[in-house]
Amino acid sequence: MTVATPSLAINGGPAELEGLPALPSWPRFGPEEERGLLEVLHSGAWGSTHGDVVATFEREFARSQQAEHAIALGNGTLALVAALRAAGVGVGDEVIVPPYTFIATAAAALFVGAVPVFADVDADSHLLDPAAVESVVTERTKAVIPVHLAGNVADMTAFAELGRRLGLTIIEDAAQAAGAQWEGRGVGTIGDLGTFSFQSSKNLSAGEGGIVTTNDKDLAGAVYSLVNVGRVPGGGWYQHDAVGYNLRLTEFQGAILRAQLARLPEQQQLRERNALALAEQLAGVEGVVVAPTDERVTAHGRHLFLFRVPGLGAQGLRDAAAAALAAEGIPAATGYVPLHRNGALLRESLALASKLGQPVPEADCPNADLVSSDTLWLTQSVLLGSEEQISAVGRAIAKVVGRADDLR
Ligand SMILES: *Cc1c(COP(=O)(O)O)cnc(C)c1O
Repeated sequence: MTVATPSLAINGGPAELEGLPALPSWPRFGPEEERGLLEVLHSGAWGSTHGDVVATFEREFARSQQAEHAIALGNGTLALVAALRAAGVGVGDEVIVPPYTFIATAAAALFVGAVPVFADVDADSHLLDPAAVESVVTERTKAVIPVHLAGNVADMTAFAELGRRLGLTIIEDAAQAAGAQWEGRGVGTIGDLGTFSFQSSKNLSAGEGGIVTTNDKDLAGAVYSLVNVGRVPGGGWYQHDAVGYNLRLTEFQGAILRAQLARLPEQQQLRERNALALAEQLAGVEGVVVAPTDERVTAHGRHLFLFRVPGLGAQGLRDAAAAALAAEGIPAATGYVPLHRNGALLRESLALASKLGQPVPEADCPNADLVSSDTLWLTQSVLLGSEEQISAVGRAIAKVVGRADDLR
């Protein structure tokens, strides 16, 4: 005789998170953010050309990532654009990016007149595969953008070596990885440049914002110029030695970011504890594959919690599983549509390349196709939950994956 397990909440059973407090909301703030905002307001120095809050945050963030230089700017997309331009990437160059990432990683290449070229990801980690990158390098390749997806860290030892050997600029897209480290080194300092985002969903946020990190003084100066209308560090107000944008942050954003940065280590520790507990709980669940962490990742950003459900994916039931998890009280996202399938990127790339008389390399990314069909994400605020909530999340995932027949 089989023992009946409770049916899924989506089919009328009890929700796994019912009776527990609501999962934490995001962002979190307190008196420090309020005080910082009011100080800027009353100072009258609302912009970073007149105050020193953004500059102070830049120094604090640089220290936290162990970077020699950090230049704040409007958002993570523009951080990538500034990093590419500072590195001299421009019209007709090729930039290698993973297809399993936010669209900005590839769009940034087009914004500087370069063609984004896709190299496949590793199916287990969802991270850009260095061997796949090497297989699509051409004489036009100028830069590679490994993405530290979900706060996990791409193989920076391999990418740094590849960059040196082939003379390519390595830009770390660390939009999801504030606080992450590879072999004890902060991300954003191992490649030539690193970029971060402080958009609302990120684990360090001011609503919008971004920053570029580097250990190279010349690259830092070039980024500063691009952010500050072509001015040079220490130069005159009307001395525009380069053509630059105005990409500056406001002091209000700087004030929030200073307070949020102070909260980050404790939040990161909590997310780490919860992610490890959840991974352990799911290790025994058939049909669930949690993205593994390389042992050289000495600090995981824990922005998202990624796991694959290959059996459900193969039956086309991943989206139904996400809906079933939502009914259990768990916000689970179905993640990215791979960028090598994005019509807008392909159209712009083709138009650009044909104008330049260049071929657009055909993307061959079966792993990105696979993981985009069978991956589920939990966002970072779930990982700020209590032990009790996390264990209920684990039970709900096990229940949903174990009752695939009920998802049809
Ligand atoms: C969020 C994000 C960006 C873009 O950052 P914005 O601040 O939203 O412009 C770039 N890359 C990745 C991987 C991201 O997650």
